[in-house]
Amino acid sequence: MPAMRTHRRSAVLLAVLCLAGSILSSQTPAKPLVVNDAALGNEAAGDNWLAFGRTYSEQRFSPLTQINESTIGRLSPEWVVELSGDRGLVSTPLVVDGVMYFVRGMNVVRAVNATTGAKLWEFDPEVRAAAGQMRAGWDHSRGIGFWNGKVYVATWDGRLIAIDARTGKEVWRAQTFEPGKPLYITGAPKIFKGKVLIGNGGTEHGASRGYVTAYDAETGKQAWRFFIVPGNPADGFENEAMRMAAKTWTGQWWLHGGGGNAWHGFTYDAELDTLYIGTGNGSPWNRKIRSPEGGDNLFLCSIVALNPDTGAYKWHYQTTPGETWDFNSNMDIILADLPIDGKPRKVILHAPKNGFFYVIDRTTGKLISAEPFTRTTWATRIDPDTGRPIEVEGARYERGVATVAPTPIGAHNWHAMSFNPKTGLAYYPAMHLQATFNDKGFDPKTWRATPFSIGYGVGGSFISGPSKPGTPMSSLQAWDPIKKQIAWEVPMDGVFHPGTMTTAGNLVFQGRNDGSLRAYTADAGKEVWRANLGLGISAPPVTYAVNGKQYVALLVGWGGAMAGLGGPVSSMHGWAYGVHKRMLVALALDGKAALPAQPPPTFPAPLQAEFTVDPKLVQAGAALYGERCTACHGPGGQSAGMAPDLRASFVVTQAEQFARVVRGGTRTARGMPMYADITDQELAALQHFLRRMADTALAQKPK
Ligand code: CA
Repeated sequence: MPAMRTHRRSAVLLAVLCLAGSILSSQTPAKPLVVNDAALGNEAAGDNWLAFGRTYSEQRFSPLTQINESTIGRLSPEWVVELSGDRGLVSTPLVVDGVMYFVRGMNVVRAVNATTGAKLWEFDPEVRAAAGQMRAGWDHSRGIGFWNGKVYVATWDGRLIAIDARTGKEVWRAQTFEPGKPLYITGAPKIFKGKVLIGNGGTEHGASRGYVTAYDAETGKQAWRFFIVPGNPADGFENEAMRMAAKTWTGQWWLHGGGGNAWHGFTYDAELDTLYIGTGNGSPWNRKIRSPEGGDNLFLCSIVALNPDTGAYKWHYQTTPGETWDFNSNMDIILADLPIDGKPRKVILHAPKNGFFYVIDRTTGKLISAEPFTRTTWATRIDPDTGRPIEVEGARYERGVATVAPTPIGAHNWHAMSFNPKTGLAYYPAMHLQATFNDKGFDPKTWRATPFSIGYGVGGSFISGPSKPGTPMSSLQAWDPIKKQIAWEVPMDGVFHPGTMTTAGNLVFQGRNDGSLRAYTADAGKEVWRANLGLGISAPPVTYAVNGKQYVALLVGWGGAMAGLGGPVSSMHGWAYGVHKRMLVALALDGKAALPAQPPPTFPAPLQAEFTVDPKLVQAGAALYGERCTACHGPGGQSAGMAPDLRASFVVTQAEQFARVVRGGTRTARGMPMYADITDQELAALQHFLRRMADTALAQKPK
């Protein structure tokens, strides 16, 4: 029986090899992984999660299968790290060789053992010191980067910092915008070919001209900078691309900055050696103000392809020409190879705010398809020949007022989209809302943005309800980019649900605003598992493996813009400021860790106070509040959790204490800006407005 003997012999040999392997792995550490282009481009290796989108494709697809649709019932918390003092946690942790790196509130980076959560080091870039001067109160970050033994974090106040991944010590830092400029960074640095790229946000906080900058990953020396919109022609153009772009602007756009800020959506395509940048909306939103005679306003709301070595322009595709609704294209740019009409094509998948799902040929920048994934009343369709939207008359609020779907918060925002090459589907949280724009009273001749104040150049109600009455405001969608249609869809309550991750185990993972983490079958969207983590989730999950054991991990900490600006649709969950524990949670099959006890959803009660409101001050207070306070404390003082609910605040009723906090900067360490120049009169106006809001809420409360 030679066959059997061979079999037995090879079995013995295999056992010896396995034994040698286990001795090797327990006694001699495996050669450390060098995170470079090869590692970042390796789709097949599943143990690590090396970059924001896992690999260069940005697919957030993991080949790991230990946790799959059959075993998922055994998924349970394996370890938990409480993160006291943090607010919104929205970022993607990275995992390299059994170590997890993640960014906390105030851009603090921590490294932990990925099998236990035990802290290895923590790096604090001390943005608290800058917080008093920063008046766009967003201390959250969507992630960090990793390259050749270093972790990279970009800070709220515009620094890019390289940290030694072993020691947690700073290696270099670069200042990416002038301190004091009304810009901020919430994005993850993008790393490719030994360069680190970062942009910034700020289109709503003053005149802003967006750009991205690439730095040498080893030294921090600036390699190149690409401006997204043209500056003042009198100053000369930086390059031919800006000269070309300037032809699509009118009036004196440079006085308003123009915008286009790239705060998210960076993808490096190693096959085509091209960098893609998703660009932002106009500054201000209202085109009538920034470019009064019209024009496409390049490169707003576009995917711009650049030479990764020089930053030179290659091509662009503009999703919303001449945008006037905050329909930016900063959303994820995923790379895939798809058969289109029987031919293999290298494509980009992109679901921006404007409600159309784009499939673009990444070799040419030409449109393959763009179909609506939600109700779109600003445009009926995208012309396949020109790639341009067929706009609906009146949608640009030419007549002063217009109700439009989707909205400035987007049919899809920054919440991570994933793509599963096995199912051929892309997964993302979609929002189905409409907004009312009203630019009556906005005079293009006199309107100017005030630095660090919110200014859109148009008024209105930017979440005025579901785009179809009686239907859910959000859903988890699986989009089929070949069939150009939704493959499956799960309705969700509220808005701003977090992003997704998908695996070869035929699973899609997604957290929710209600505090649940859920898993669905990737092919059919059947919910197969859920766990309640006790606090609204805003961050996407990742998966990785150490010593053959697969984990799913995510940050739990309700946050992002709608935890500030959201009003009723975001405060409905009861994640009141400072009440619930923020956490990093890792789950595995048969995990035995207990989650910390969480208070139930909490709704701050408006304060009864001896305070007589002077109606004459209320209006001035409302205007000031809208410009300076709404972004964090919520419209009308109704907080959705990013900052205290000021209708419930005792401090608001006490003039001296109120002045100490707002003007004196006593709470900058917690992210409250210092308004050193605010006058007594303005403070009083704010007090009277907020007390009016409290009284109104008290009067509406059921007796
Ligand atoms: Ca915007």
